[in-house]
Amino acid sequence: MESLLKKHFGYDKFRPLQLDIINHVLQKKDSLVLMPTGGGKSICFQIPAIQLEGITIVISPLISLMQDQVDSLKANGIKAEFINSTLSPIEIENIKERLSRNEIKLIYIAPERLAANDFKTFLLTLNISLIAIDEAHCISEWGHNFRKDYRSLKLFKTLFPQTPIIALTATATPKVREDILKQLALVNPKTFISSFDRENLNLVVTEKKKAFNKILSLIKKHEGEPIIIYCFSRKATMKLSQKLRENGFAALPYHAGLSSDLRKKNQDLFIKDKVNIIVATIAFGMGIDKPDVRLVIHETFSKSIEGYYQEIGRAGRDGLPSECVLLYSKGDIIKHQFFLKKIYDHSTQRAAWDKLNKMMAYCETTSCRRKAILEYLGESVSKQKCNGCDICDGSIGIIKTTLSGIIKPASQVKPISKSVHNKGLFEKLRALRLRIAREKNCPPYIVFGDVSLREMASVLPKNAEEFLKIKGVGQNKLNNYGESFLEVINNNKNNNNIVPIKRKIRNTRWTAEDDDKLRELFDQAISVNEISKILKRTPTAIRSRFKKCGLI
Ligand code: ADP
Ligand code: MG
Ligand code: ZN
Repeated sequence: MESLLKKHFGYDKFRPLQLDIINHVLQKKDSLVLMPTGGGKSICFQIPAIQLEGITIVISPLISLMQDQVDSLKANGIKAEFINSTLSPIEIENIKERLSRNEIKLIYIAPERLAANDFKTFLLTLNISLIAIDEAHCISEWGHNFRKDYRSLKLFKTLFPQTPIIALTATATPKVREDILKQLALVNPKTFISSFDRENLNLVVTEKKKAFNKILSLIKKHEGEPIIIYCFSRKATMKLSQKLRENGFAALPYHAGLSSDLRKKNQDLFIKDKVNIIVATIAFGMGIDKPDVRLVIHETFSKSIEGYYQEIGRAGRDGLPSECVLLYSKGDIIKHQFFLKKIYDHSTQRAAWDKLNKMMAYCETTSCRRKAILEYLGESVSKQKCNGCDICDGSIGIIKTTLSGIIKPASQVKPISKSVHNKGLFEKLRALRLRIAREKNCPPYIVFGDVSLREMASVLPKNAEEFLKIKGVGQNKLNNYGESFLEVINNNKNNNNIVPIKRKIRNTRWTAEDDDKLRELFDQAISVNEISKILKRTPTAIRSRFKKCGLI
């Protein structure tokens, strides 16, 4: 499995639980996966999809999410497509034909398709190995994003009683969890729950005074990096984004009141790194998997802690240090009050008040913020202190000084481009990535994530073999981009002044599995160079192992 992970996705190691989940799925059993945003849920169905002989159906609630995941899979050389309303009937027919010929491994489908009888009949003619329900909380009215269409997913167990189902979500509340299991009628499901701690997120709450100055100093600190600013109202997003533009920043608004064309356009500009700041209501973010958002600012506190955690979860999905700053004013309760008072049902209204109170208590707390959130979500935390909140690192005091006029190191998070080992080269690699992305009209992170570029700039790979060892470089990306990135790295004048960071040397012990793979590749008459890339060993090591195994 690890070699599949490297070959297709360019990663060396599974994250906690990923491998257990994959094995469970491959045993054709049902599962429910609860992991925080950015936890790495997709791999849990994408690797089985590659491994299983038939087709994997993936249900996803939003067109933009489907597009994003399919683009990423294709960039890794995996046969994936989607069927949704953006395609013409001819395009859909074409994909259906390819599905019938078993030429597609993953097919992403919008839930409403299932309502159509002829589509159900068509699905029944296919060889379906696995069904993945992404963002599974959409099936529950207790979730924060109920989608009526998700209710029709009940059908899957009836249509495909033998096919395993994997449901995935970042919403961990017990009510939602039970609802998902019940609604999907999962059979003997195993629930996998990973820790919801997002260690790379730095959590800060600061008083909402001189708010605009604070926002300015934060976005200057993260200059050019992707930033989301959440406002309470549509009007506030329009005002703030305009003010930021007047101050020379590339900021656009996003809210449900904009035409869908404009929403799409603004989102696209953000995803493709053409503007770096989106000022939005919480309507923004669910539809994107942009992995490199470095700063999320809340201009008003959220209506619940789970909502807040979901929103800040959109920062740093790639695991690199990112910052979340909430501007707190008790008075903002009035904004929430207006909506809470409209809730007709008494007990629902009480529950909403309770959540709001807990959110405010979080903002006012004097102990570790991370611990507070995780315990609210039902996770027990033994450590009293974390390494990434304003209270634990003592920066809450610094923020108070800000109030008296001295501007925002607000925290110890260094902007990502400033903290890389070799900034000059990193910027050159970023420019190359941007150029390629513009040519392909895709988001730059589809080409390579910041994690990969950072590693290239610090490890300085010299050839294809070394390039393949970089995180995020799989076989397909090596073939497509290896040459151009290596050229930039090798031509970088300052390389001599940089001491490359030595990577950990891989354990060179040969396992029985390695030997099996070696024989298999040998039998297929694959070149030593190719084999060396696949097994991540030098050609010399491969040749000597050939001898040991009696192959030559
Ligand atoms: P989720 O759906 O849980 O929010 P994703 O599946 O989108 O998360 O993954 C978040 C990021 O983590 C992606 O950039 C993905 O490529 C990366 N990732 C997933 N698994 C691994 C792994 N084993 N090693 C390194 N990066 C990983
Ligand atoms: Mg996901
Ligand atoms: Zn803390």
